[in-house]
Amino acid sequence: MRLRIGGLTPLTTIDFPGHLAAVVFCQGCAWRCDYCHNPHLLPVGDDGEGWPRLRDFLLPRRGLLDGVVFSGGEPLFQSGLADAMEGVKSLGFKVALHTAGTHPGRLRRLLPLLDWVGLDIKTSFERYPQLTGVTGSGAKARESLMLLLESGVDYEVRTTADPNLFDRDSLLALAEALAALGVSRYVLQQCRPVDGRHPLTPGEAASFFSDARLLAQLGAMFANFTIRQA
Ligand code: SF4
Repeated sequence: MRLRIGGLTPLTTIDFPGHLAAVVFCQGCAWRCDYCHNPHLLPVGDDGEGWPRLRDFLLPRRGLLDGVVFSGGEPLFQSGLADAMEGVKSLGFKVALHTAGTHPGRLRRLLPLLDWVGLDIKTSFERYPQLTGVTGSGAKARESLMLLLESGVDYEVRTTADPNLFDRDSLLALAEALAALGVSRYVLQQCRPVDGRHPLTPGEAASFFSDARLLAQLGAMFANFTIRQA
């Protein structure tokens, strides 16, 4: 099986809630968000031999790690992802996925293998092309969201509260739309500065998180609402 890996974190306690896990950073993504925090992972290199390395890493860690998180880049970009996940499961590990929902068809096929999904919903579905540079990206994210909700797989939906993309009202409107679609576990993440974008002061980046009324309004919309600050 071909798996292109750009990096591996041997142990995380936060990327797969409730589990000790390793994180595999997959190469490639079909989108080009200007706030991407792993732009070095977006080009796909020649090394498709990631699976033997991952297997050799995992074999001595059976019984020590609970699971493996496939992150990126965008894991769904890789056509060999299902084989890699099946390989990880066959070794006795759980599998988690961090995704932006770029390829709903692939996600549909992977869902039976997945124990947990962290799905980024970046902005209103209508505004996705403005952020990703890709026509139709909002429809793909929405389809992936609906597939995830219908699957019953454990998940969180998260949005990066980027003041370059949102004001208070548009953030509330997105949350309302997600709640109406059935999202019950929602995370608001603080934006981190990225070179080359409109610079954010620390105060601007944290502005949504000091707005107690906004956080209370968001909290009232979801059975499980948390904030994740930098
Ligand atoms: S979808 Fe994720 S990996 Fe792809 S460009 Fe956007 S932020 Fe980067």
